[in-house]
Amino acid sequence: MSTNINNNGLPNIDDLQNLANELFKALPNEFPKEISLSPDKAEHPRATKIAETILQTGHVDPLDQHPLAIPSNVQPAQHSFSGFGVSPSVLNYGNTGASALYPNAGAGFDPQSKNSSSGVQENHDLNINDPHTGFHDINLNNGSPQLSEESIFSSLLLNNQYLPFQTQNSSFEIELQAALASVDTQFKKRDDNPFNGNDSGASYYFLEQNPFAFDRRSTDIVVGNSFDAKEINLYKGHHFNAELVKKDFPILRETVNGKPLVWFDNAATTQKPQSVIDRIAYFYEHENSNIHRAAHELAARASDAYEAAREKVKAFLNASSVNEIVFVRGATEGINLVASTWGEQNLNSGDEIIVSNLEHHANIVPWKRLADKKGLKLRVIPVDDDGQILLDEYAKLLNSKTRLVAFTQVSNALGTVTPAKKIVEMAHAAGAKVLIDGAQSVSHMKVDVQHLNPDWLVFSGHKLFGPTGIGALYGKEDLLNEMQPYQSGGNMIQDVTFEEIKYHKAPNRFEAGTGNIADAIGLGAAIDYVTKLGIEAIGQYEHYLLEYATRLLKEISGVRLIGTAKDKASVLSFNLQGYSNDQVGQALNKEGVAVRTGHHCAQPILRRMGVETTVRPSLAFYNTTQDVDTFIKTLWELKKVKF
Ligand code: PLP
Repeated sequence: MSTNINNNGLPNIDDLQNLANELFKALPNEFPKEISLSPDKAEHPRATKIAETILQTGHVDPLDQHPLAIPSNVQPAQHSFSGFGVSPSVLNYGNTGASALYPNAGAGFDPQSKNSSSGVQENHDLNINDPHTGFHDINLNNGSPQLSEESIFSSLLLNNQYLPFQTQNSSFEIELQAALASVDTQFKKRDDNPFNGNDSGASYYFLEQNPFAFDRRSTDIVVGNSFDAKEINLYKGHHFNAELVKKDFPILRETVNGKPLVWFDNAATTQKPQSVIDRIAYFYEHENSNIHRAAHELAARASDAYEAAREKVKAFLNASSVNEIVFVRGATEGINLVASTWGEQNLNSGDEIIVSNLEHHANIVPWKRLADKKGLKLRVIPVDDDGQILLDEYAKLLNSKTRLVAFTQVSNALGTVTPAKKIVEMAHAAGAKVLIDGAQSVSHMKVDVQHLNPDWLVFSGHKLFGPTGIGALYGKEDLLNEMQPYQSGGNMIQDVTFEEIKYHKAPNRFEAGTGNIADAIGLGAAIDYVTKLGIEAIGQYEHYLLEYATRLLKEISGVRLIGTAKDKASVLSFNLQGYSNDQVGQALNKEGVAVRTGHHCAQPILRRMGVETTVRPSLAFYNTTQDVDTFIKTLWELKKVKF
């Protein structure tokens, strides 16, 4: 829209009015949609006042005028008046140089210059990208003299002038201040604040008082997809910005029951970063083919990507060779594979298998079935009341009949970290083989198979920020090559006749049929992601987050924490007095917090701790102290209702 300039040097009043009405229509509903700037039409008294003022041009002493008056020596300026920002201050005031709106702005004004030192430019068309507004706009630091908002408002009020949508008694700013003052942004005192426990002192909910909130403090490192390896090496283990990491996980932007999703079910499965999602999509868009079987380009691409993923798993676990990495569906399939190959082949009646009391059903049931079938003895390493392995009791179980020790590195139900290296050493000293269930450990700590020295180790991709349906079995190469195949068919054979079948060596020997190619590649992308963040940095951050959450949970009387080992990872199992675990889970779900309730496929350890089920929040590196606060607050609300 443009306005014509009339013969007194001012824009045409009708044009101005049209322009103003355009502006008013764009405002929220409570503001007038139609005004008249004509003084003889009194539709809008404040607009009329402004219009009257404008029309007084030539009759007002510039030094004595109210802020909206125009000095008499105004020269016509060739403005197009396109866009916003129409105001008297955009007019050319000739050599007086003073803005009519800001009569006191002369101090910083150079009368010789076309541009005022206060930033008011002259003889320029209005430009939406470089606007010069007559009404001071704190968002636009150009075009306005250095007057405070306050002085502008008081100046206007003093002269009985108001902006069109201000009331005489309270400026927008005053109303805003009053509104803000009425908002309670503080947590209340300890007596009635559910967040406050009994040990007085600082609350832990705000950055400056929170000794553990590394995620809120560490804004000085950028992690996520955008960091480079140098930065990470520099900061690894010192800083971790979970808020930034969170942004890599699209699902964490979901809302549940109108609340931001807090994903505390990481022990069941983890969420996937965009890079993993993209990698799988890329496979189907550009590489999809069966592997190892064809002479064409896509078969080569798919085979390369699949074998590159195996390399990544090898490096992640620090295995000696890619031949030690077998792709399986997950930890469960890995354990079943060992039980039904090595176990079937090598265990005989009277032999003994040791598992720990902490095991997931996946590391109990296959051994129990084998024991029942073959007349083996299944023995169990007991734990203390905190859920810690009793090494001296374990030592008593080991004997010449012990053929296998199978145990978890991290308990999925209690979070206990077991002394894995020690357990392996003791088993080997007794001549037994060892399988480590790494399902809950690989996402929280460095798992180095050459250091730990198990004979087998299993894990699932979906608990490591990768896809479901894929995981890995690590096995010592010689041992794998001695083992009978698991399933049989295509892919795992060297040669087939009706008389004789020759098998491939590991790993192909154990990968019969068409595998989960896309998800193996997705697992490779997940390993890339975790490696970039740094598994040590992840472990350290999660440790502080777990301490933070544990401390707050313990402050709630009525909470019984189940699993209080000194060395723990990720998991906070508990019961809340007066509530069933399902009720607690539902209350948390209402607030958007996802936790697992139930026996977590680990009934023996829960029964050892005297319960059938628990509520189990489990943490990952994209969780923040704010997430923990939401969770804790909900528990306090529940507690308040009952006692
Ligand atoms: N082992 C442990 C310690 C687990 O926590 C789980 C799953 O929760 C498993 C094994 C089985 O994993 P998956 O279901 O991925 O095979």
